[in-house]
Amino acid sequence: MPPNAEDAVTVLGGGAVGLCTALDLAGHGIPVRLIDRDAPGQGASSGNAGVISPFSVVPQAMPGVWRKAPGWLLDPLGPVAVRARHLPRFLPWALRFLRNGTAGRARQVSAAMEGLTSGNIELYRRHLQGTGHEDLVRDSCYVLAHRDPRLASDTGLDAELRRAAGARVEVIGADALHEMEPALSADFRAAVVIHGQSRATSPGRLMSVLAGKLRGLGGEILCREVKALRPAPEGGWRIYCTGEDLHAPRVVVAAGAWSARLLEPLGLRLPLEAERGYHVMFPAPGIALNNSVMDANRKFVASSMEDGLRAAGTAEFAGLDAPPDPRRARTIAKIAKRMLPDLDDTGLTTWSGVRPSFPDSLPVIGEIPGHRGLYGAFGHSHYGLMMAPRTGTIMADLLRGSAPNLDLSPYRADRFGSV
Ligand SMILES: Cc1cc2nc3c(=O)[nH]c(=O)nc-3n(C[C@H](O)[C@H](O)[C@H](O)COP(=O)(O)OP(=O)(O)OC[C@H]3O[C@@H](n4cnc5c(N)ncnc54)[C@H](O)[C@@H]3O)c2cc1C
Repeated sequence: MPPNAEDAVTVLGGGAVGLCTALDLAGHGIPVRLIDRDAPGQGASSGNAGVISPFSVVPQAMPGVWRKAPGWLLDPLGPVAVRARHLPRFLPWALRFLRNGTAGRARQVSAAMEGLTSGNIELYRRHLQGTGHEDLVRDSCYVLAHRDPRLASDTGLDAELRRAAGARVEVIGADALHEMEPALSADFRAAVVIHGQSRATSPGRLMSVLAGKLRGLGGEILCREVKALRPAPEGGWRIYCTGEDLHAPRVVVAAGAWSARLLEPLGLRLPLEAERGYHVMFPAPGIALNNSVMDANRKFVASSMEDGLRAAGTAEFAGLDAPPDPRRARTIAKIAKRMLPDLDDTGLTTWSGVRPSFPDSLPVIGEIPGHRGLYGAFGHSHYGLMMAPRTGTIMADLLRGSAPNLDLSPYRADRFGSV
């Protein structure tokens, strides 16, 4: 690309968010360069559970979460863990998180989430059109399976939020559940089923296909580690990479959980946590699931993918540089076996990666106040695969000078008062 063309954009980070942003820009004829230290899309964007839902509009901080959190933290098989050494950094984030857990706030956040999820299936299908890999996104339901049928309810705030986003939500009993998902343990006695979703059958390959499409549209993909970012004396931005320094008139930071670290030297202090998740792949599972299925009690999601069955979940707060804890993956393997008793675990592999999470479950999207030509698109926490395509269209609108058809104030970087 002509890197200094006035309208050129350099995207730092080639996960789902960076790739979708770059694709939309390239689709509008804007010269785009994407930089990632690895092959694009092979971080959190490849290891996730593959759920693509227009209706995942339930924030992480919901009323009553403060009551459940201690039980989760104390349970060694529980879905949330905090490493002791990380507590001093984690506590201020956790307090902000808990303050978001009111019904009124959840409704506001949910509306802002919907702005990023609506139309996501169609947008992925549009990106895949003509690539020959259209089958990477398949129609699916989201089955939230419960052992205790009393907990499978469609009358709570979560169901209200999903319905407000247009979801068809249904509660089914044991017979219908086992007809839908015969591989599920008989311990599961009911489920909340959300219709009209989709799932990626290989999030990693989906990312590679999007990267191939970007190249085909003339986008440049560079494999470099970005060390620092500073305003250039001649205008625009200087990007300090391993091996070379680059200049860019406009920059989008889409580096997932590493984004805040890149911005901190510019004086931006953002409460972005690295929320580590794990998955276990069962390459020859001997069984299959027809939908994305969540063990609603243990809070992990299982899905049949093209290279086996994946069970993904857990939220571990340990800091960006902490090594993974192999016990968390083993725990997922153990509870996956309980969920799917005939699951063959021969040759299982494990993976872990970090979600970029703000305490209000919303990302930063838009120009960073006070830093002309510097944009943020990061912090999509548990929802980045499904929010990426809409984030991409919004970013492309902004960078083309066309007003997105959405109020962007909930995603401002200065909403935490620290920019
Ligand atoms: C276990 C698990 C299950 C999940 N399930 C789902 C799900 O079902 N559906 C869903 O929507 N979301 C899910 N998520 C969340 C989703 O995966 C993330 O929100 C999403 O991948 C974030 O995308 P991203 O592009 O912002 O970040 P990433 O995918 O992390 O990409 C950031 C990129 O930036 C690059 N980078 C960072 N720093 C630098 C640097 N200094 N120089 C060069 N390159 C750099 C990295 O190499 C990386 O490729 C899940 C996450 C996990 C962990």
